[in-house]
Amino acid sequence: MIIGTPKEIKNHEYRVGLTPESARELVVHGHRVLVQTGAGEGIGAHDRYYVEAGAEIVQTAEEIFATCEMVVKVKEPQPVERAMLREGQILYTYLHLAPDPDQTRDLMASGAVCIAYETVTSPHGGLPLLKPMSQVAGRMSIQAGATALEKAHGGRGVLLGGVPGVAPGKICIIGGGVVGFNAAQMAAGLGADVTILDRDPEVLERVGTFFEARAKTRFSNRANLAECVAEADLVIGAVLIPGAEAPKLVTREMLGTMRPGSVLVDVAIDQGGCFETSHATTHADPTYVVDGIVHYAVANMPGAVARTSTYALNNVTLPHALRIADLGWKEALKRDVHLAQGLNVWNGKVTFEAVAEAIGTDY
Ligand code: NAD
Repeated sequence: MIIGTPKEIKNHEYRVGLTPESARELVVHGHRVLVQTGAGEGIGAHDRYYVEAGAEIVQTAEEIFATCEMVVKVKEPQPVERAMLREGQILYTYLHLAPDPDQTRDLMASGAVCIAYETVTSPHGGLPLLKPMSQVAGRMSIQAGATALEKAHGGRGVLLGGVPGVAPGKICIIGGGVVGFNAAQMAAGLGADVTILDRDPEVLERVGTFFEARAKTRFSNRANLAECVAEADLVIGAVLIPGAEAPKLVTREMLGTMRPGSVLVDVAIDQGGCFETSHATTHADPTYVVDGIVHYAVANMPGAVARTSTYALNNVTLPHALRIADLGWKEALKRDVHLAQGLNVWNGKVTFEAVAEAIGTDY
């Protein structure tokens, strides 16, 4: 199969669909790989690394879309890319179609076979092609919070790990799923005083068993939440209610119970945020202050660590890309019901129920 990766063109997107190492795997499997010049530049993957891996460098995205049977990307195709898609061509990338009727209609009109990373499932449950980005965001949330706690960034001047003779900072993590668990790993590693709240007893048990004395667990009800937030130097918002907007668990009133200069990091901002006072920010200007409390609410946290994020993403996307390339997409999806869950648009039709419902089309 001929497989291609164009340079990402969404604003401030530095990740790339295929790393040179992934390109090499596809080449070893007997496939031809085309990469647009500079596609990997944002993560330090220069053209020559792709050439050494056996890929070919082309100058334009047009050449990729005109030549390749499968296009591997990171972000949803932008309008100029959608216009280049061809009937029967495989598009393998994040799509997030439910809130995006314009993109959905363009993909239907293209006749392309659109496989979305975010809906591929796993025999172990969960969404394995989304998980690495939650791992990255969870681990980054502690770094972001630690920086915001510094005086120069408006924080109260607390070092999360403390020093001998001075108590560590207190971290309250709301939600013990993928983001919360990874945040807790970083926080416990720093030696901070960590509490994780969740409302799912199985999650509390899993987290409690893993962290033992290195982190406390508490059931997430109003009283426990209010107490934990009031005492915290740093609060991480890491809740998810699948398919719904995040619940506003920390109200503006609760900010008044916190010490000035404490920090809120709202990782759930991509689902609307779980703090009443959150609004989305960017990496260029990540924080703002409400009632003396520093807020960090960047919606695409993994973008800041594009190199780690690209490698983490490729680790989970490549095995499916190889099977699609080796077997053809129909056979690959027939043999793997979990990969088949990724098919969102095919033959001019939406093939994923939740997307069809969201945009009001036939399924
Ligand atoms: P997850 O499903 O693994 O975990 C969510 C957890 O929240 C679950 O354990 C659930 O029981 C818990 N929860 C639900 N309601 C709760 C409540 N009232 N109190 C306490 N816990 C509650 O989800 P995840 O992968 O960890 O993602 C968490 C959030 O982070 C999502 O909104 C996701 O979209 C977001 N996210 C953001 C970024 C970013 O860049 N900002 C990146 C990745 C993920």
